[in-house]
Amino acid sequence: MGVKKSPAGLGRSGKIDPMSSNPDPGARPAGSAPSDGEAVLEARSVFRLRQVEGRDLPIVRDVSFGLRRGEFATIMGPSGSGKSTLLHLLAGLDRPSAGEVWVDGEDLSGGDEEHRAAIRRRKIGFIFQFFHLLPDLTVEENITLPLRILGESPRRHRERVDSLCGLLGVEKLRARQPAALSGGEMQRVSIARALVTQPPLVLADEPTGNLSSKAGEEVIALLRDVCTELQATILLVTHNPRDAAAGDRVLFLHDGALLHHAELNGGPFDVADVFHRLQELGV
Ligand code: ADP
Ligand code: MG
Repeated sequence: MGVKKSPAGLGRSGKIDPMSSNPDPGARPAGSAPSDGEAVLEARSVFRLRQVEGRDLPIVRDVSFGLRRGEFATIMGPSGSGKSTLLHLLAGLDRPSAGEVWVDGEDLSGGDEEHRAAIRRRKIGFIFQFFHLLPDLTVEENITLPLRILGESPRRHRERVDSLCGLLGVEKLRARQPAALSGGEMQRVSIARALVTQPPLVLADEPTGNLSSKAGEEVIALLRDVCTELQATILLVTHNPRDAAAGDRVLFLHDGALLHHAELNGGPFDVADVFHRLQELGV
């Protein structure tokens, strides 16, 4: 694997200019769509500053990368490295302080909240560490909620819902309320919910963080299988090397910046490969 240049804006001094333009000669002018028609996600020099004790600190620093259709990528980073902050930017749940996020040909970083929400509802499925199922709805109602938010009738999509429930092994749970499910079952339901609108991009924030080791392994295996089946693009962030190893591609996040030279390609990997890379990085 060749050594790539360090992320733009991250000099040897470690100091950054958060608003500096990306010197990448391949970068497109602001406002233009990604040139690669198959790019489902593209982050371009994304920064997120936050006020900490009266100072603006960069929590996400000059993150640039892209995902192609059908890719299963993982981002490995320790707790506090900025994984959730980055994922919220990529989902349009938050706005970058600088930079752009493109999802399936649409600029998610421009426009107001309503504009971002409209893109999000059609293009992105989100899987949370703590499931975020609605407790008063049944499993079936939770799974079909994104369809109803889009104004579509769940009945019209019955075949899709049945097939997703089958793939995720939750058919028998459809009439239950979330409180009557195990953690692994709740996460399988929330994966079904994330996929029910057939979004081109699925983002998962530490989806096994609240599960037993065995349930976590099952959830990751299911996520891989279902996304291969549905040709969805997945980006999963985690601090768990075992989960990261499931990716076709593993990126490493450190202090809010991607360590491009460390990226692993050609997975899924043995967990030892990820440990080895972490040792090399000394992070
Ligand atoms: P991770 O998901 O990798 O654990 P986060 O994205 O949650 O990391 O947080 C990254 C860093 O940003 C942490 O140092 C955290 O304390 C800080 N941070 C997160 N949210 C805020 C906030 N609302 N205000 C200030 N700092 C924040
Ligand atoms: Mg987090």
